[in-house]
Amino acid sequence: MKHLFFRILCIFVFNIFLVGASAQIDKAQLLKDLEILSSDEYGGRPAGGNEKARTYLIERIEGLAPAYATMVDSFGFLDYFRKPHKGYNVVGKIIGTKFPDHFLVLSAHYDHLGVRSDKIYNGADDNASGTAALLALVRHFQQNPPKHTIIFAFFDAEELGLKGADRFVEDPPVARENILLNINLDMVSRNEDNTINICGTYDFPKLNGPLNKIIQESSLIVTKKHEGPNFTGSDNWTKSSDHGRFLERGIPYLYFGVEDHPGYHKPSDDFEFINQDFFYEVTNLVRITTEQFDKKLKKKRKV
Ligand SMILES: [Zn+2]
Repeated sequence: MKHLFFRILCIFVFNIFLVGASAQIDKAQLLKDLEILSSDEYGGRPAGGNEKARTYLIERIEGLAPAYATMVDSFGFLDYFRKPHKGYNVVGKIIGTKFPDHFLVLSAHYDHLGVRSDKIYNGADDNASGTAALLALVRHFQQNPPKHTIIFAFFDAEELGLKGADRFVEDPPVARENILLNINLDMVSRNEDNTINICGTYDFPKLNGPLNKIIQESSLIVTKKHEGPNFTGSDNWTKSSDHGRFLERGIPYLYFGVEDHPGYHKPSDDFEFINQDFFYEVTNLVRITTEQFDKKLKKKRKV
């Protein structure tokens, strides 16, 4: 009896330890990163004019994960009007403890629309939110090393046609066939109904296994809309952000994003309108999702 009591006590203490260890997202810092990146001084972070945002990202990453080996990958591209530009992806990785040569790619674009007609488009939700969440995840996985190597990709020039993702999948820094999953965040902080949408399971239904359990246990309302034949035109989001380029190469992906809101691609996409608790919960959901897939994915891509 005494022995049993001791075992129960041990399990209890161990569970407290586990809960404590998993609660790694620093909410205050998460919000601070979003607020800074979407402040007027960053000028709406347009591709070709977002050096300040890029410098901020690199400094934050190097402070969080000194061994991260950040790489700034520059590339040329043409915009919708065939005008040439230069873009800069910020890419780094945290090496996996068990499968260092197999990869999960967490991505978020850090560019936005810049200044138009004297108005600054700060893009707090689109996509300072995903960018800040990715920084929080760099910190988390630096402290809790994953089994697979996680590549953190802060993409540039998404707003000009997924150009940073184009560059990455065309010429990835690792063997493309060893990329097991892309998790892309684009607009994850503004929703009045506590609802986040996930795309990816229509094209890659095997992702449903781990994902459904995660969704059941989440305090958020998680929908799986905007993919499949019932969603057409701009209502189909399978290629609406950088994950589209992974899909085109047959790489499984999960895209996290909110429904469009009144601030979408407007100067009113500002920090004051984001839902802070919701944003924190979505970041946690992405953390848990990444952890579960890191645990469950087979070394070879089979999903
Ligand atoms: Zn976006």
